[in-house]
Amino acid sequence: MSVAENFRAIRAELDSFARNEKIILVAVTKNHGVEQMREAIDAGATDIGENRVQEAAEKFQTLDRAARRHLIGHLQTNKAKAAVKLFDVIQSVDSQHLAAAVDKAASSIGKVQDILIQVNVAREPQKSGVLLEDLDALINFVDAAKNLRLRGLMMIAPNFSDVEECRPLFKKMRELFDALKTQQENFDLLSMGMTHDYKVAAEEGANVVRIGTAIFGERLYT
Ligand SMILES: *Cc1c(COP(=O)(O)O)cnc(C)c1O
Repeated sequence: MSVAENFRAIRAELDSFARNEKIILVAVTKNHGVEQMREAIDAGATDIGENRVQEAAEKFQTLDRAARRHLIGHLQTNKAKAAVKLFDVIQSVDSQHLAAAVDKAASSIGKVQDILIQVNVAREPQKSGVLLEDLDALINFVDAAKNLRLRGLMMIAPNFSDVEECRPLFKKMRELFDALKTQQENFDLLSMGMTHDYKVAAEEGANVVRIGTAIFGERLYT
């Protein structure tokens, strides 16, 4: 199947899961070329995701199509300035240190940067993301930052062989999201679900999914 066919099939599937909100499908183009980015956008992709600032910078330079751009990978503070120039949404803010750097970078170019806070809900030591006990402090910090607009939460589920094991984590994130939404003005995005677990994530209330492999095929790392 072509990129366009894959994209449309997943789009239709997500529409069948949606409760009362349309699920945003972020087409994850990391390790794929600009040509595939174009194909996805031409097939209807409104949102694309990249996980590395440098790679995204090179590709966006030649991308002659409009789409919302999401940074989904870990961000180092020394790349914050480049990231705020390149991305509409930074999904991977997970510390006060990084939030401060993004706020400062956004301020320097007169931008209010949309961000998500990445939560390490499964407490995986090797993964990025703020731990639940540190989330309130990070939210307070972000709320006080003039050049950050907190749009919601992001999570990466553990790579369980039985995808059903992700379900309670997704459910927990949706509960957390709903609780915070009552206190937050611009809180509307809950980003969870990738190729192997997006159906479960969508069933449990994700309204943003990030899908690479199921649209573009396996990534080849050279
Ligand atoms: C690569 C990546 C994805 C997409 O993964 P697939 O399994 O190819 O769908 C989603 N989210 C993040 C944070 C990623 O780095």
